[in-house]
Amino acid sequence: MSVPFNNSYVQLPERFYSRQSPTSVAKPELIRANPELARLLGIDPAWLLSEDGIATMAGNLVPEGADPIATVYAGHQFGSWNPQLGDGRAILLGELIGTDGERYDLQLKGSGQTPYSRMGDGRAPLGPVIREYIVSEAMAALGVPTSRSLAAVTTGEPVYREETLPGAVLARVAKSHIRIGTFQFFGSREDNEALGLLVDHVLERHYPDAVDGGADPHTRALALLDNVMQAQAKLVANWQMVGFIHGVMNTDNVLLSGETIDYGPCAFMDTYNPETVFSSIDHGGRYAYRNQPGIAHWNMACLAQALVPVIADKEEDAIEIAKDALDKFPAYFLEANISGQRQKLGLATPRDEDETLAKDFLDLLEANQLDFTLSFRRLSELSGTEPAASVSSLAGFPSVFDDWMARWKTRCDAEDNPTRQQNMLATNPAIIPRNHLIEESIVAASTEGNFELFNELVDNLANPYDLTGVDIRFAKKPRAEEVVRQTFCGT
Ligand code: AMP
Ligand code: MG
Repeated sequence: MSVPFNNSYVQLPERFYSRQSPTSVAKPELIRANPELARLLGIDPAWLLSEDGIATMAGNLVPEGADPIATVYAGHQFGSWNPQLGDGRAILLGELIGTDGERYDLQLKGSGQTPYSRMGDGRAPLGPVIREYIVSEAMAALGVPTSRSLAAVTTGEPVYREETLPGAVLARVAKSHIRIGTFQFFGSREDNEALGLLVDHVLERHYPDAVDGGADPHTRALALLDNVMQAQAKLVANWQMVGFIHGVMNTDNVLLSGETIDYGPCAFMDTYNPETVFSSIDHGGRYAYRNQPGIAHWNMACLAQALVPVIADKEEDAIEIAKDALDKFPAYFLEANISGQRQKLGLATPRDEDETLAKDFLDLLEANQLDFTLSFRRLSELSGTEPAASVSSLAGFPSVFDDWMARWKTRCDAEDNPTRQQNMLATNPAIIPRNHLIEESIVAASTEGNFELFNELVDNLANPYDLTGVDIRFAKKPRAEEVVRQTFCGT
């Protein structure tokens, strides 16, 4: 088998999905493939680059062992309930067991209409495919749990939006594509049998150590909720640590696996400002940087609500139990957040004053409109002997930081930490996927078919903690006229 499929979701009852093959495209051409990820999946990188491999990534060839489906789900979009969503422009080809022993979904995004396309064409323009490729691979290199990009191809077909754009397909990989919205779909239909099956499926796949095999269904449902909450709290803390703003934290875009998914109008912030929001469709700032932890909690409440029928026999008991479980979320997040902040500040042992120290640094960044990434990187360099490649020409601290610097030095001196600088440099990236460069690469690719900047970005973002050999242009913050204020979904 060219792709060693091992499919489990299709073993669930048929009301979980619709069988649907991808729709062929006119002229598939490879933009980029990810040989390292292919190897992890047990796919021969040479095959991936072959005519059959490219045809498979475009949806023109369905390889042996694939069992293509579109999955059904529901969800809250910007707070509004939508009872019927589903993979409208994505098809799950099947699952593979990686060389790491993990199970992975291989999904094609932009691969044609499905029963859940509603009014949509099932296609993806090149721009969003490029953005997702760059940002998802950068997130993986940053160590943030995320879906990955196995390959991107152009289709040779136009896609009609407000303008005519080149079409593309992204082959995306995630530990699963099961969302809060998948639970909401069955929860809202009072399909308790489906809920129970889904709880078991997700526990087995993502949280095999959460409960022992003999645990009763109520214990299992609650264990699922608690484990998902912990994973989500850690994920969002991870986002906060790298300045990532997801942009569409709708419940249909939140995976039970705790991986980041759906890189639509997302972006990394340059200048530190917790109010930052990029999405052109997020007028109220619902998904602004500072709101991400609170929204994650809200989303967890949606999951809990969907699980109520399987948490206890009596609804009132289940609601009480679910509420108590949900109350743990803020503590889970704060714990993950403060430990991430300590790491960023190079502190190895916890002390009460650390929270204030971190907050004061962020407040100073905000007041002085400094770049989030470069400031933490520069701080890392100041924590010991400077490494050869430095961001000193790109970032520095004005004298208003003097008091804070003195406090930080005193705090550092209070603990013995010989690897402080090494740890800080491995925690605070030098390069992130800057929004202005992504936009520039999208324009070059969409208007001229020029993928040079796209490829350079992906290459340079592969080692975000190491400046050696990096083109310094990728580390720079945007000049005032380069700043991108809005990012479009582009679906
Ligand atoms: P998103 O906001 O990108 O997560 O998408 C929300 C829903 O709209 C999902 O159910 C998608 O499958 C669907 N959708 C988005 N774009 C398209 C499209 N071009 N064709 C069909 N369905 C789409
Ligand atoms: Mg989505």
